[in-house]
Amino acid sequence: MNQYEEVKAEILAIGDELLYGQVLDTNSHWISQELDLIGVRVVRRTTVGDSREAILTAFAEAENRADIILMTGGLGPTNDDLTKPLLAEYFNCAIELVPEALDAVRTFFEKRGRELTPLNALQAHLPTKCTYIPNVLGTAPGMWFSENGKIWMSMPGVPHEMKKLMTDHVLPRIKERFQLPIIYHYVVKTVGIGESWLADLIKDWEGNLPPHIKLAYLPSLGQVRLRLTAFGDNPSELEKDVALQVEKVMPIIEKYVYGFGMMTLEEAVGKMLREKNQKVAFAESCSGGYISHLVTSIAGSSDYFQGGIIPYHNHFKNRLLGVDASTLEEHGAVSEPTVIQMAEHVRDMFNADYGLASSGIAGPGGGWAEKPVGTVWIACATKTKTVTKKLQLTQDRMLNIQLTGVSVLNLLRICILGKTE
Ligand code: ATP
Ligand code: MG
Repeated sequence: MNQYEEVKAEILAIGDELLYGQVLDTNSHWISQELDLIGVRVVRRTTVGDSREAILTAFAEAENRADIILMTGGLGPTNDDLTKPLLAEYFNCAIELVPEALDAVRTFFEKRGRELTPLNALQAHLPTKCTYIPNVLGTAPGMWFSENGKIWMSMPGVPHEMKKLMTDHVLPRIKERFQLPIIYHYVVKTVGIGESWLADLIKDWEGNLPPHIKLAYLPSLGQVRLRLTAFGDNPSELEKDVALQVEKVMPIIEKYVYGFGMMTLEEAVGKMLREKNQKVAFAESCSGGYISHLVTSIAGSSDYFQGGIIPYHNHFKNRLLGVDASTLEEHGAVSEPTVIQMAEHVRDMFNADYGLASSGIAGPGGGWAEKPVGTVWIACATKTKTVTKKLQLTQDRMLNIQLTGVSVLNLLRICILGKTE
């Protein structure tokens, strides 16, 4: 039986500026991450403007959904900041001076050589049902309520003030108040397969996961991270339970998995090259050096990265990499024969085990019916054979460059593994 409680939270971000797009709601994002780390499940994030009706409705709705309601914003001394009076109204209590809070605001101003204005003194008046939580970085205090069987916490909108309150007071109080589970995350990193294909491949395994282990698909840029999250009381058991599930799924997805945890694709490929004592070189046309940049961002890459060429103009594909003028003429720069010659030449030129090449139409201009924007040819020449791939990417230039990078590194990975079928 579970010894821990399933605690649900809602985050309420208050302020017209958030709705109108003037300020990005980074508070909710940060609070979500912090709650996730301590095993509180965020069930909803709501943003409302500085309007009485909207805020009161949001309170009532949040109360129905969550055990903890964390709100930020709308605490200033000005008229448009409504959170405090509305909390008093909602909990049916008065607002009174809290001497301790007044001392804190006064000290805050004294330290800055400023006098306390009556408007700022008002910030020390709080709903009688709340517990005053000092805000050492600002003047709007935190307010903690334990009402209607729920926890409510109101914090200022200013991010660093909110974070300090959360870290010093709110998170410790939540951990003390609830019996939270231990959470254990484990990430499996895949490349070369889309999210829905991957989901289809592992659906039986996913369906048989024990109830205390949840799976999340986190796709980004040609890659999908599989995150397993286990909830329980005993960290070493959670780790064992997750390891067992990873062991079960690995045979199904092995060829797409390049690493675990925080490992990046360029790190994984670098590690493989180093272990085999092999070298790599790149001839990058449409990726413009981006892949070489990724590879050389890893410390120690001089162990395996020999160098690269960016033969952007056709003339230099011919002059530097020996791509036949007739090939360029007949098939074009974005073609299989061109990338084959580029890859093989750069391999030999740099005395590498692998030569990789990219040539494509990054866009937004330059495409035509036969070769639309996003058409990219890539190749990997090993000592014994050359493998090519045609990619049909997007309309977005930067995305095309990044996706080309992922595909080239993945092609290299497959060639190092010798899994080119
Ligand atoms: P104070 O008056 O003490 O500054 P407050 O509670 O009144 O606090 P707001 O006026 O709502 O806070 O917002 C203060 C500033 O904090 C805003 O100008 C905005 O830049 C930032 N802010 C507010 N809400 C958020 C949010 N959800 N995410 C990120 N920044 C925010
Ligand atoms: Mg505001």
